[in-house]
Amino acid sequence: MAKWVYSFGNGKAEGKTEMRNLLGGKGANLAEMSNLGLPVPPGFTVTTEVCTHYYANKREYPAELRAQVAAALGQIEKITGRKFGDPAKPLLVSVRSGARASMPGMMDTVLNLGLNDRTVEGLAAESGDPRFAYDSYRRFIQMYGDVVLEVDHHHFEELLEQAKSDRGVSLDTDMTAEDWKALVAAYKAMVERQLGRPFPQDPQEQLWGAVGAVFASWMNQRAITYRRLHQIPEEWGTAVNVQAMVFGNMGPDCATGVAFTRDPSTGENEFYGEFLINAQGEDVVAGIRTPQQLTILGKDRQKSKLPSMEEAMPETFAQLCDIRVKLERHYRDIQDIEFTVEKGKLYMLQTRNGKRTAAAALRIAVELAEEGLIDRKTAVGRIDPASLDQLLHPTLDPKAAKSQLTRGLPASPGAASGIVTFSADEAETLAGEGKAVILVRVETSPEDIHGMHAARGILTTRGGMTSHAAVVARGMGRACVAGAGEIRVDYAARTMTVKGNVIKAGEAITIDGGTGDVFKGEVPTVQPELSGHFATIMAWADSFRRMKVRTNAETPLDARTARRFGAEGIGLCRTEHMFFDPSRITAVREMIVADDAAQRAKALAKIQPFQRDDFAELFRIMDGLPVTIRLLDPPLHEFLPHSDADFAELSKATGKSLDELKARAEKLTEMNPMLGHRGCRLAVTYPEIYQMQARAIFEACAIVGKETGRKVEPEIMIPLVAMKRELDLMRDHIAKVADEVRAATGAEISYMLGTMIELPRAALRAGEIAETAEFFSFGTNDLTQTTFGLSRDDSAAFLGAYEAQKVMTRDPFVSMDIDGVGELVAIGTSRGRATRKNLKVGICGEHGGDPASIHFCERTGLDYVSCSPYRVPIARLAAAQAAIQAEPAKAAAKPTAKPSTERHNRVLISAGRRAAGARVSAGRNFAAPTARPGKKKPAAKPVAKKAPVKKAAPKKIVKKAAPKKPAPKKKASVKKPAKKSKKR
Ligand code: PEP
Ligand code: MG
Repeated sequence: MAKWVYSFGNGKAEGKTEMRNLLGGKGANLAEMSNLGLPVPPGFTVTTEVCTHYYANKREYPAELRAQVAAALGQIEKITGRKFGDPAKPLLVSVRSGARASMPGMMDTVLNLGLNDRTVEGLAAESGDPRFAYDSYRRFIQMYGDVVLEVDHHHFEELLEQAKSDRGVSLDTDMTAEDWKALVAAYKAMVERQLGRPFPQDPQEQLWGAVGAVFASWMNQRAITYRRLHQIPEEWGTAVNVQAMVFGNMGPDCATGVAFTRDPSTGENEFYGEFLINAQGEDVVAGIRTPQQLTILGKDRQKSKLPSMEEAMPETFAQLCDIRVKLERHYRDIQDIEFTVEKGKLYMLQTRNGKRTAAAALRIAVELAEEGLIDRKTAVGRIDPASLDQLLHPTLDPKAAKSQLTRGLPASPGAASGIVTFSADEAETLAGEGKAVILVRVETSPEDIHGMHAARGILTTRGGMTSHAAVVARGMGRACVAGAGEIRVDYAARTMTVKGNVIKAGEAITIDGGTGDVFKGEVPTVQPELSGHFATIMAWADSFRRMKVRTNAETPLDARTARRFGAEGIGLCRTEHMFFDPSRITAVREMIVADDAAQRAKALAKIQPFQRDDFAELFRIMDGLPVTIRLLDPPLHEFLPHSDADFAELSKATGKSLDELKARAEKLTEMNPMLGHRGCRLAVTYPEIYQMQARAIFEACAIVGKETGRKVEPEIMIPLVAMKRELDLMRDHIAKVADEVRAATGAEISYMLGTMIELPRAALRAGEIAETAEFFSFGTNDLTQTTFGLSRDDSAAFLGAYEAQKVMTRDPFVSMDIDGVGELVAIGTSRGRATRKNLKVGICGEHGGDPASIHFCERTGLDYVSCSPYRVPIARLAAAQAAIQAEPAKAAAKPTAKPSTERHNRVLISAGRRAAGARVSAGRNFAAPTARPGKKKPAAKPVAKKAPVKKAAPKKIVKKAAPKKPAPKKKASVKKPAKKSKKR
């Protein structure tokens, strides 16, 4: 017979902590506390499987449930010596929800169940306190009426207020037994009026009504939203816990309280909590009375005049202190507990791992490890990498009043207030005057960099998590809210409008880049403080990490910041950002509008010294660490002038007429620039550009090599390669420049040449590309864009609908699409390494800073991840956790050499990840037919099986792959304005 109900109490239980999936968190821990011999009121848990059954069977319970509940109730009766529905010695119970993951306040609870017109009298006689009995009864009717019978709670509140005003009292505590009795009668009459039937008097009917309500609350809107936000699967279901009531409101020797075994805000190893004498649980959280502190220390710190529990109930407090120690030793983590004292006797009602701030999490993990309760790997595993953001950026003062305007995407963490400006130039000017500004744009482009840098925060109304604004802001460590689509920006009027609020330039707003919230006015922020525990956890993490962590940086400031955060090199230097400096943009523009190679070379020669000095500075800062420099990537037209003043300046510099320049600009516009003339395609047509950049790099190597006496060996990276021949052409251009610099400077120049893998074709043909490339870096921003055929700049507008309708679980530009994009990464890695065994492989898309994607990179055997400077600590921690998680897989893989996918799924399942995580498909569908049977692979190698090394026929492939198509005819009448690309 299936078992649907698990009992606990009297020093034993049928369940235990490990049965959390079946019993929910609360049920499993009540069982565990019973097993530990702690004073837990007896009860039973109706399992989460009943919830699943209930929803799968048109809200019907399993056939055996009633009998099992009756038996479990009988056990409570036996232990307590009370009877459910007995007028003389009534058993009262609480009915509470309890899912696998804590969902605080999202589902329903009913207390004092079992009270009716007869049992209330029994309770009054037994307790000798009719006031208490009728107070409990009216609370029950109110709670049950609201939660189970769905009578709107304002009806109850109105009657309560009326009763108090009739009596001329303002506090519940001033109500007498007779007052409560009268209110009970009024409540019952009202319920009958509302429902057309009386309030249920039968305790069994009450019990099943409450159980049904708890299951129903799994599907209430609050719970559904909470699950969506916290990625809790609907199929988990909730359990129901039925437990004998104990009363903290039976007199001055009674109390109820909540506590944390350590301080959840700071992590300090001090017992921390609040309690109320003569009160029921909800009174502590409801804020009706001011709670008292648990300890004298807490009382002193809060400057409270009320006595602490340590003073008011010293014996019970001492018992609670013992339980505190016992629970921490047992669970090896901070516990969040609830307790009740009934007539001097302490009862434990709940324990669970305590939620804590990021700072507290660090301190607790380090101190628990130092106390020997956990090992260092566990300590590292306890920290949520994403929570480190809280520590590195300012956050909103939680106590501050806020008026929310709207919410966009949380594109770059941190909170910032400032006056609104709609222009990058103005942002720079205002910041120069010492003002804090928020730059508000429909979207940003590389031209806005100076304004973005000057601003405290950036707000855009369009664009996703890898839009220009998001990527650049993350790199700079600026707060950014992107794609706040409810805002209308009117550049001409210099206003932004949202939900009827018109904010003018110069007025203050606040953005929270960690949540996506936008607030009116200035909201105070609090500065982060990095504790010594942060450094300790980071050092421990580094000792377990296999993958290196590099940074995406191009400015000296970014590079220095990243080094401070522990970056082990630069994985992506986007050289185009260096072109926008006011001192060089005109020369860049001269290069773009040049009529021939000679003119272009002349303009490039002006830019080259700047580039050389930039690179030299980066080499100095990185001090021997690897530096990957990506040659120019964006479509050239991005650098074109926009304003009349820009055109005029360019006209002066080049001697070309304004008409000529505008015609040139028009010619350069593209319908689809992100798929257009960009990346290495630029240098297929204009090799001088990459030649200039290579020269600048090599000269910088020579300079810094001479300064330091140490050879600088850069990694030169070619973007947007689809075909080996493209890379071969670039290799030859660069090699020629290297020879020239060697000859000119006498320096020993050595470098690595590699490519980004950003196109599905490049991933598929990685085997032949690796014949030329010495390293790969997966540009998963573009790879996501090109795999899905989904614009990284425009998709934010509709991805929300995809998530809501479960087409996607997460924005693929934030967390890698493991099934699709991930499979291409795995294919590219394995095919590349099949050709070149020691091929260095990394990732430099935004996913390089996303913990879930980093886990995938570990499983796939990448050598490093690269991310924006402020995400370096997150990546270090996530990479360590990924390596720790991968350990059992390595051990398990050795003797059996199981197929890779199976092995990963096992790791994921054993690591307790959700079933969805087991969908890792990398390695499943490709190269399998050609894998050599019986050939043992090294344990930690990529998931993908090796493809056979095929000798490619490059010329043929190029011809086939790039047929010359006639240019599509453009109809003049329907010509759309060229779409401006937002290349980062
Ligand atoms: C990428 O495409 O993932 C990448 C890192 O390059 P960018 O974002 O500059 O296109
Ligand atoms: Mg790219």
